[in-house]
Amino acid sequence: MTTPVRLRPEIAALPPYRQGRQAADDAFKLSSNENPFEPLPSVLAVLHDSLHVNRYPDSAAVPLREALAQRFGTGVDEIHVGAGSLSILSQLLHAVAQKGDEVLYAWRSFEAYPGLVTVTGATSVQVPNRPDGGHDLEAMAAAITDRTRAIIVCTPNNPTGEIVTTREFETFMAKVPDDVLVILDEAYVEFVTDPDAVDGESLTERHPNLVVLRTFSKAYGLAGLRIGYAIGPAYLLDAARSTALALSVTETGQQAALASLAHHDELLERVAVLVERRDQVRDALVAQGWDLPRAQGNFVWLPTGEHTAHAAEVFSAHGIVVRAFAPEGVRISIGEAESVEKLLAAAQQVVRPH
Ligand SMILES: *Cc1c(COP(=O)(O)O)cnc(C)c1O
Repeated sequence: MTTPVRLRPEIAALPPYRQGRQAADDAFKLSSNENPFEPLPSVLAVLHDSLHVNRYPDSAAVPLREALAQRFGTGVDEIHVGAGSLSILSQLLHAVAQKGDEVLYAWRSFEAYPGLVTVTGATSVQVPNRPDGGHDLEAMAAAITDRTRAIIVCTPNNPTGEIVTTREFETFMAKVPDDVLVILDEAYVEFVTDPDAVDGESLTERHPNLVVLRTFSKAYGLAGLRIGYAIGPAYLLDAARSTALALSVTETGQQAALASLAHHDELLERVAVLVERRDQVRDALVAQGWDLPRAQGNFVWLPTGEHTAHAAEVFSAHGIVVRAFAPEGVRISIGEAESVEKLLAAAQQVVRPH
């Protein structure tokens, strides 16, 4: 087939998107950091009542923004809601970066970052993680140039699981020029147990260039409804609202998020179950002889190095679907209680890198 339409060269160079292999029916899908729990009955009830799908949503999402503003003690304009926190990240990047600009982030980090940056026309600048899987914030600060328009900090880092501490983050922010946007991606904040971890919600008032991203996808188990939010200065969130695709936040997503906030304590009990399971899994992996980073999200990272592709096959043969990032390692989500035994049996058989 001829391809007459002229595409932007950076878009034409991207590999076409292909959906990942679906898990066999009896396999545990531990590849997307999803929450294994079904929605709370109270959340399911509002889903049914909000299915007026012939109507457009109220996409300003005022009731949800009011509920979040109350929770965080901010104004309603200092909260922005998007169809997943990923779409807010895209909006923010479009608001600040274009061709010739640079967007800085740690690597390896969330696999969605490079594509989002490319689509804005800007260039990704990736700063390698420390050996423990944490961000090297000193090197990141040193990598800032006149062209840097945004910096993404992911804590806990997906896929390594290590956090940024409050002190590290404050030291870093002191080095970032005020006219560079810093996006703190806290998709897994609810799973964090380290008291030294940075907590973005307390910081946005102090930094006029900081936006914090959170999501209902992970701890709240609403990944399929696409709903996330940002906390930050109104002028930055207004810019995100300006670049947002209109009407993309569904009414169902908003209602489920509101119901989740209303049953917050019940949801946090489930998070506590997953946190306990995570710590058990990590301890068992250490007992097997694995040298892996601390795990502060709902996943663990096995540094399988050159054996990564093989490791994924071993897990698959044990009925566990993991996310492989060759040649570095595999990320394994904390899922159903029944998955743990299989996960550990597989890990026992995976070849360790030297
Ligand atoms: C899962 C994830 C998100 C995104 O989620 P949404 O479903 O778009 O809210 C954002 N950042 C990181 C690091 C993630 O792992």
